[in-house]
Amino acid sequence: MALLGRVPCLFGRHLINRRKVRDNGALRIVHCAHCGLALEKEEGGHWRRRHIGPADAMA
Ligand SMILES: [Zn+2]
Repeated sequence: MALLGRVPCLFGRHLINRRKVRDNGALRIVHCAHCGLALEKEEGGHWRRRHIGPADAMA
């Protein structure tokens, strides 16, 4: 794991690839292009970390 290369992510500045945003009918979901963290879009346009289960946390 090269977590040290993801400094912007540590400050919540994840890289959103808009072309990869998925819409599951309720949420817009994307994975950070740097760290792979699952993000969901809130009303108002801010991205936040998805609430994920233990099984997904290791992915
Ligand atoms: Zn990230």
